[in-house]
Amino acid sequence: MSQPQANIGVVGMAVMGSNLARNLASREGNTVAIYNRSVDKARAVADAHPEAGFLVAESVQEFADSLARPRTAIIMVKAGGPTDAVINQLVEVFEPGDIIVDGGNALFTDTIRREQAVRDTGIHFVGAGISGGEEGALNGPSIMPGGTAESYATLGPILATIAAVAEGEPCVTHVGTDGAGHFVKMIHNGIEYADMQLIAEAYDLLRNVAGLSAPEIADVFDEWNRGELESYLIEITAEVLRQVDAATGQPLVDVILDQAGSKGTGVWTVQTALGLGVPVSGIAEAVFARALSSKPAQRAASRNLPGGGTVTVDNRDAFIEDVRQALYASKIVAYSQGFDAIIEGAKEYGWDIKKGDIAKIWRGGCIIRAQFLNRITEAYAQDPNLVVLLAAPYFRDAVTQAQDAWRRTIITAVQAGLPTPAFSSSLAYYDGLRAERLPASLVQGQRDFFGAHTYKRTDRDGTFHTLWSGDR
Ligand code: NAP
Repeated sequence: MSQPQANIGVVGMAVMGSNLARNLASREGNTVAIYNRSVDKARAVADAHPEAGFLVAESVQEFADSLARPRTAIIMVKAGGPTDAVINQLVEVFEPGDIIVDGGNALFTDTIRREQAVRDTGIHFVGAGISGGEEGALNGPSIMPGGTAESYATLGPILATIAAVAEGEPCVTHVGTDGAGHFVKMIHNGIEYADMQLIAEAYDLLRNVAGLSAPEIADVFDEWNRGELESYLIEITAEVLRQVDAATGQPLVDVILDQAGSKGTGVWTVQTALGLGVPVSGIAEAVFARALSSKPAQRAASRNLPGGGTVTVDNRDAFIEDVRQALYASKIVAYSQGFDAIIEGAKEYGWDIKKGDIAKIWRGGCIIRAQFLNRITEAYAQDPNLVVLLAAPYFRDAVTQAQDAWRRTIITAVQAGLPTPAFSSSLAYYDGLRAERLPASLVQGQRDFFGAHTYKRTDRDGTFHTLWSGDR
């Protein structure tokens, strides 16, 4: 048996695993063992990056033997069955106290199941959400590890060396036990869906109501990126809009088929939120908007349905400013809903999640990185038990200031017949939350009428049922 030489190992040498391994190897003091089911791929990665000094393992046993104890290995393989297969192989050759990290995009309930299954062996299993794609894996992702506090004592310092750094702080924190890390990563992706859809709706309004060209809108987004909307997504949107198609000379955005794909984390977020009873309407509308876009037959069959009238914009600059404010207010709602889901998930699964720390580790490395996240951290620092982010002083002031523009923007979109499902649902959520009375009282009456579901009263405790005149 060879002497253990590596302090960390990575299993899975596709793009994410190899980039993460290279990131680890580039940090002082790390020696990285790598293993891949098809061993030639691991050899190819080592050959292509001799500077990394990778130790290539030819078998799972050799991989285990090459790691110093407690062994720490990060799995970056295809989510689902392949992850289970690799965990089972590692459990065979690892020992109590060793740490297996799944850095893939696992569904958090799978992580909870896996952690329970591995726990009996004395090996720590950690589900870690890793955001930032290929580039993040190589240069510094945002990392959301779950698992035990004991495993984090070993793992945390290693992850801190490879995570993105925002304002001097590494973008990694111990999120909570078992599936907490993958849960928070899932919510991150859900918020990402909402953020992207909101930006797309703003673009649509600027393009089709204000009549701006793609490069002009790129300039607008560059401008917005210097203010409170400053974020990676706004920045890359400007770049996408400025891109010209080499074949046609048109803006590339005009030749890209308008059918948005997805890999499923948005759907997971919405399904989970439905189960928890959390209205993540902005995220849901973003997921549905992608689904609608990807129905070419239904869209073609509906093309001749009547639409809105022509809307003219008298003051272009004022309209652009209205759209900016509508985007900002809707974005606040999307994040408020996402953090609501985190609060409810934490309650349901018994996690002690520090919301302010989550906002902090999203400031760098991940897709939703933005200035704005500092405001969320501050809001939770002021009041860790904040009932709803939207009601925190900073955000309340921001939506108060934006709300007239927000309403005007949506009215314009409706008149023009432009779909703005995320803008509109965000405003509806806002109005729903702030309403003193909701028509839910009528819904309760209806439920009691047809199903004797009972209702509560505003003026007395207890549960009531009315013998409605329509009862048979
Ligand atoms: P991937 O295409 O999802 O997976 C390929 C890797 O999985 C290869 O190493 C492959 O080994 C291995 N694999 C597949 N089936 C296996 C099995 N039954 N047993 C053992 N190994 C198996 O790779 P990726 O794009 O680098 O992503 C890795 C993980 O990171 C995934 O969970 C993904 O969801 C997550 N992730 C990806 C991104 C991204 O931007 N791509 C971002 C965040 C998270 P062979 O070479 O032998 O086939």
